[in-house]
Parts: sequence; C-alpha cells; structure tokens
Amino acid sequence: MILNERLITMYLYNSLTHKKELFVPNHTDVVKMYTCGPTVYHFAHIGNLRSYIMEDILEKYLRYVGYPVKRVMNITDVGHLASDADTGEDKMLKGAKREQKTVMEIAQFYTDAFFEDCRKLNIKRPDVVEPATGCIDEFIKLVSGLMERGYAYFAGGNVYFDTSKLEKYYVFNDHDEEDLAVGVREGVEEDTNKRNKNDFVLWFTKSKFEDQALKWDSPWGVGYPGWHIECSGISLKHLGEDLDIHCGGIDNAFPHHTNEIAQSEAFLGHKWCNYWFHVHHLNTEGGKMSKSKGEFLTVSLLESKGYDPMVYRFFCLQSHYRRNLVFSWENLDNAVAAYDKLIAKIATLNPDSGEVVDEAALQSMKDRFTKAMDGDLNTSLAVTALYDVLKAKTNDATKLAALADFDNVMSLDLLAHAEKVRQESRAQEAAEETDPEIDALVLQRTEAKKAKNWAEADRIRDELKARGISIIDTPQGAKWRRD
Ligand code: AMP
Ligand code: ZN
Repeated sequence: MILNERLITMYLYNSLTHKKELFVPNHTDVVKMYTCGPTVYHFAHIGNLRSYIMEDILEKYLRYVGYPVKRVMNITDVGHLASDADTGEDKMLKGAKREQKTVMEIAQFYTDAFFEDCRKLNIKRPDVVEPATGCIDEFIKLVSGLMERGYAYFAGGNVYFDTSKLEKYYVFNDHDEEDLAVGVREGVEEDTNKRNKNDFVLWFTKSKFEDQALKWDSPWGVGYPGWHIECSGISLKHLGEDLDIHCGGIDNAFPHHTNEIAQSEAFLGHKWCNYWFHVHHLNTEGGKMSKSKGEFLTVSLLESKGYDPMVYRFFCLQSHYRRNLVFSWENLDNAVAAYDKLIAKIATLNPDSGEVVDEAALQSMKDRFTKAMDGDLNTSLAVTALYDVLKAKTNDATKLAALADFDNVMSLDLLAHAEKVRQESRAQEAAEETDPEIDALVLQRTEAKKAKNWAEADRIRDELKARGISIIDTPQGAKWRRD
C-alpha cells in the first residue's frame, strides 16, 4: 500500500491463515483495530500486560508508518464466568465477594488500576474504551438477529449459539477438536441444554449461580450477556461491519475468539475480521501466569521491589511476541542491566552539540528499524537497531534524532531517562567540587536557615547566584554547582 508516497510493506503473522501476510487494510482512511480488554475483578498481572504492551507496539507502529488508527477496547465487567466454557460463577461477583464490595465498585477500582498500570508502562489508552455493562442494548440486538437468522436457540432459560449451523467452527484450526471440545474437557460440567457440545451461551437467565448481581430485561427474560457477545457487540458498535485487526492473548483464540467470529459472521452474513494478532504467554517456571491461580505478579509488586516499570517493557520488547516468554527474577535483572547500560550510553551523547542532523545517515538507521518491525513486529531486532544507532559513525544530533524517532514506537523513555542520568552525574560532579570561599558561604547560609534568618539565607543565595553558583538542597545537605 502507498501512503504519503511511501510504500508500506508491513508483514504480520495472521493466526487465521497461519502465515505471515502483507498487511493491507480494508479502508484508506482508517485501520480498525479491536483489543480484548481486561476482566476487571482483580489487578492485571504482568502476563496480561505483556499482551497489552505488544498490542500497544502494534498500534504505535501502524501510526508510525502513517496509518490513521481507530482502536477500541472493551472492559469486561459482566458475563465472564470462572470457566471460559460458560460454567462457574461470574468472575466479577467472585471479586466483589472477596472484597465485600459491590460489583460496580470492583469494576471501577480495577479499571482505574489497569489504566494506572498502563500509564506506568507507557501503554497508550485506546481511542474508545467501552465497559460491557454500557452496551446491553447492542448485545440484545445482536442476539435477536442471531435468533431471527436461525443461528441461536432458547433452551433451559438461556440463549445458545448453534454451532452446527456453521460450515466451519474451528476457524483457527490448530486445535485437536476432541481435546478442546467444550463439555468433554476434564473438570467442566456438561450443560445438558446444549444441542451441540461446542454451543455457547449468548444470553443467560438461568445459571447455577442465582445471585448474579447485575441483570437486565431482555426478550428472553431478565438476565445477563455471555462474555463472547461483548466483544462482537462493542466492535460492531464502534467499528462497524468490518475489522482489520483483532488482538488478544493466545489463550483467547479458543473459545473466545472462535465464538466471536462465529456470532459476528453469522449476524453480518460476511467475513468480519481479516487479521488476528495473538500474543503468546508470559510463563513462570511453574507454567502460565494466570489471575485465577491467585498468586501473580503485578506492576506495583515490581515497583515495591525497586524495579522501574520501564524495565519490564524493555524485557518484553527483547523477545518476539509469538514466543512464550519465561519470567524469572534473574531474567528481569538481566533486563535491568541491559536497559541501564543502554541509557548510560545514550547519556554520553550531547543534546546541545548544535550539530546538523545527517539526513542520509538518519534514513539508513530508520530503514533498519522499519525492516525489523515490518517483519512481523520483530521488537528484539528493533532493540538491536537501537544499539546499532549508538555504534554508527555519525554525529550525536543524528543519533539522538534516530533514538527519538524509534521511541515513538518503543516508548522506553530513552531520552528522558538519559537526561536524568546526565543531570545526576552533573549533580555528582558538583557535589565533588570544593572551593573554600564558596563552601564557607554555603555553610553560612545553612547556619542562617537553622537560625530561621531567612533574609540572610536568601542574601547569600543571591550573592552566589550573581557569581554563577547555584545551591542544590539534597538530603545530605546543601551542595553547590557552577551554572
Ligand atoms: P483477562 O483480564 O483475563 O480477560 O485477560 C486480559 C488479556 O491478557 C487477554 O488478552 C488474555 O489473553 C491475556 N493473557 C492472559 N494471561 C496471559 C499471560 N500469561 N501472558 C500473556 N497474556 C495473557
Ligand atoms: Zn474479547
């Protein structure tokens, strides 16, 4: 595709076709992107956030190459049951009971906590964020349409999607049908209302858990929507009848995304989404990190152990999104060392050199970066492109321009962190400088402050200022530096 006179050759792996494909959007004026949002019954763990970091990179890279993007995310605040196979208690209700709060209080608290984590990790907020409870009318319209078209049936108080009406249900087709068949999976109770083992609930009015907190009136009785219908309904509401890219963690491919495709395409009567972008899991040595296991790592926990959230973003970018990533403290410490080294090198570049950017050199560095990202968003190669900038034979202004440019996508705060390092080292140098006359004046000012003689303290500060000296108050006492 040609955009702003540039040929865009971005290849993405599409889970639907199992191939890397040239990305070609449906429309020239917008790329429509949908992201499954969090289920807000608990804090997001750093595994969830790995998915959101990589989806953020995808969105930013699309914008970087020049596509206008509209990205929509749902907030799951109803209907996601403890098992993805429509059984168990609503996760939101479980959260509310755990904390003795209302479901809406829980939803608000964990939605805010999620976006606070995103802020710390430089994950951009999607253009539209829509809680499921705000779209009940859309879901009812969708379920009614599926009933009218013969794709849904009412049984035992619930409305089910009839998967036997589809030519192909397992669209991602790398599943062993028997292993994954809902209803025969170990530990999942069979729902005898279902006509076919893969059928799934579109609207509940009956479940084993009668204490569902939030319920709405519907043509099928008072109840609540199934989890899968949320994403179809919210996407149709904000992005219309077609979608370019749908994102999520790989665990969502089945049954969640499989069911989204089934119901959206049955309702629309045509293909719905072209590209499926699935982020593979963050695992611990004991297996997949998951909220339901109870013990999981959060951004706040990393911070409490002294880790900068930016280091976790860097850790994620060092590996490809289609590989499982193993989290260990040792691996994270290695990322800390690599990130600090990178920042220290950037800090040696002089931002005030007054040099002119070498446009040809800049372009060749950008080409290396886009080549990495065009190849199925290879962020680990893009990180290598950052190191290559530092090694390049060009001036500091050009290197800094390249780093700033790449950081529009990587969002690692490279230049801001490097500036902080420069300031710290200046303060350190200042702390080490001595001059008996100035030291004596700084001491006099400290004494004046102790004696609450503010006028005298200010007079000394102003006198030093006039001589080109600034006083820096630090926890170790007053220091000074030449301006
Ligand atoms: P949830 O809040 O459980 O609905 O999940 C939010 C997102 O995180 C979904 O896209 C999941 O597929 C994804 N996810 C869940 N566990 C992991 C994990 N261990 N690693 C990466 N992504 C995950
Ligand atoms: Zn979803």
